[in-house]
Amino acid sequence: MNKNFVVRYDAYIKRSDRNRLNNHKSALVWFTGLSASGKSTIAHLVEKELFKQSIRTYVLDGDNVRHGINRDLGFSREDRRENLRRIVELTKLFVDAGIFVLAAFISPHKDDRDYVRRQFEDDNFLEIYVKCSLKECERRDPKGLYKKAKAGIIRDYTGVSSPYEEPEAPDLIIDTEKLTLEDSVRTILGFLSEKKFY
Ligand code: ADP
Repeated sequence: MNKNFVVRYDAYIKRSDRNRLNNHKSALVWFTGLSASGKSTIAHLVEKELFKQSIRTYVLDGDNVRHGINRDLGFSREDRRENLRRIVELTKLFVDAGIFVLAAFISPHKDDRDYVRRQFEDDNFLEIYVKCSLKECERRDPKGLYKKAKAGIIRDYTGVSSPYEEPEAPDLIIDTEKLTLEDSVRTILGFLSEKKFY
């Protein structure tokens, strides 16, 4: 396709207009961590609290995205990169549309996470590392996937047969082996408020 003829339409209504209408900013809060560390559970509970405060929210979650827009992708390094690229493009549209997005993705590779961060301004993006030891994640194993990965039924499973690179400088660390769910949610809401995200 000749992309020279594809010209962006400069919309009359901008993100800043939508933010003003909504009375809150739109942003991306990115949760990274091992499978079963608690990303989805926490993201959905944070969403519930923000929603109560009339904030237009949406949770984007790895499993859901992989059932839809990314269902053609697997878990090779290349596919994981493309998975993330599409998620980022999707997220940009949501943020542009005025939505406060909570994104729960394992996102095991540092360079992929750095790529996500580079796509947003500092006052629109936060990375939260949902920390939990592999041992505890394997013990929780809510979907029985660690068991399958260890038995070799699932290949390229993060933490078992595919690496997870710990974030070196996340904006916030939530250690779910030390904090209760309620404390995690309270800590995140406090942090978001302190950073003037809502
Ligand atoms: P992820 O999205 O990171 O794969 P999930 O949220 O789907 O993780 O699953 C985490 C599991 O761990 C849930 O079943 C949740 O109830 C459980 N869990 C136990 N203790 C905690 C805690 N302190 N914080 C978050 N999740 C916890």
